[in-house]
Amino acid sequence: MDYLDNLFFAILLICGFGYFFTNIKKIKRNINLGIAIDRTDNPSARWKNMAMIALGQSKMVKRPVAGILHIIVYVGFVIINIELLEIIIDGLFGTHRVFSSMGALYGLLISSFEILALLVLVAVIVFWIRRNVIKLKRFINPDLNGFPKNDGNYILYFEMVLMTLFLVMNATDTHFQLLNSGNIVSQFITPIFSGVSTSNLHLIERTAWWLHISGILVFLNYLYFSKHLHILLAFPNTYFADLNPLGELSNLEAVTNEVKLMMDPNADLFATPVATEGDVPAKFGASDVQDLNWVQLLNAYTCTECGRCTSSCPANLTGKKLSPRKIMMDTRDRLEEVGRNIDANKGVFIPDNKTLLNDYITPEELWACTSCNACVEECPINISPLSIIIDMRRYLVMEQSAAPMPLNAMMTNVENNGAPWQYNQQDRLNWKNES
Ligand code: SF4
Ligand code: SF4
Repeated sequence: MDYLDNLFFAILLICGFGYFFTNIKKIKRNINLGIAIDRTDNPSARWKNMAMIALGQSKMVKRPVAGILHIIVYVGFVIINIELLEIIIDGLFGTHRVFSSMGALYGLLISSFEILALLVLVAVIVFWIRRNVIKLKRFINPDLNGFPKNDGNYILYFEMVLMTLFLVMNATDTHFQLLNSGNIVSQFITPIFSGVSTSNLHLIERTAWWLHISGILVFLNYLYFSKHLHILLAFPNTYFADLNPLGELSNLEAVTNEVKLMMDPNADLFATPVATEGDVPAKFGASDVQDLNWVQLLNAYTCTECGRCTSSCPANLTGKKLSPRKIMMDTRDRLEEVGRNIDANKGVFIPDNKTLLNDYITPEELWACTSCNACVEECPINISPLSIIIDMRRYLVMEQSAAPMPLNAMMTNVENNGAPWQYNQQDRLNWKNES
């Protein structure tokens, strides 16, 4: 490499990482548009969750085929990228395989990278077949129409190309092949290039090297636009996930205080302020992304669009309009739209007459939910579509009095009779008199 190559490489690196960090800052800003909640309690349980679920992928293997293939791709891709360190040093300082001086250890490392590259290649081909030939239902559902469907394939093509370039780069590197250490896979590719002159071989090796590093930088920046952001966000997402039992719903503090006061026979309703300004939230529930909390927004950015939630959702399975995956995708799309609005208006959100409710998610979808928590249970990275559904329903009920008729009747009965049924409180125990 000459001086100009090193300079060009440094510029490529600065642009690649610079654009990536600019977008990461945008994601952070958008997530912080959410309401503040504290999720720093019980750090040991949180670290354990992160280690088991994000790193150990314990929930992925509930579906063994996809789980094991995913672990191969994930582990392989991460470990192979350790080689990036050598590529960066070589690129910046004009060295060639700077770590090869480590001898046998270098051979061992590159051998494992080559084996993993081959396994990743096989795994992504199987993934591609599942999506495009077998056409698993959760990958062809209408909520994936358009870019999300292509996104799943693009990333597989990326991985195929990057792994192939890595192996070709090694196979055509005469210096590396002469070491005869670490070329456990590439030695079988080298014969393909047997008729190629040394200078052309060098040209192929350099081209593969440049395309490999450029491809990694493009991949890194593509993450922001893709569901594959979960590669990074799965870690904070599992750390900050709700630790409460699944069936436990959060209460609105202002409402709880009111109810407690009403239930207390000794309460002096006139002496005690029912609620001061500050106690009452500006809005009950959520109609737009800014009304959700920051963990729900982090959930939206982290969703892998795998569809495990939708494929286990009883509402979806019985033909209702609800898809928990779509709830997450819509939340992310709306959040991105709000973010673009802020960018275009010098850091201030200008109302655009749109909301997450109605423009993205309809009340019909929200009321189809049985709140069974199957989606939360199934999600491989502890996302809760249900918490968003509940918050949006709260808005419909408490701000718009827009609950469906049967629900309104039930709530009226609870209010009047202390029970969901339409009969007098006095008659509630009549059942025990029946023979
Ligand atoms: S909680 Fe709602 S969205 Fe989730 S699986 Fe059950 S019905 Fe579907
Ligand atoms: S919410 Fe979870 S299960 Fe559903 S699509 Fe997203 S990552 Fe998959």
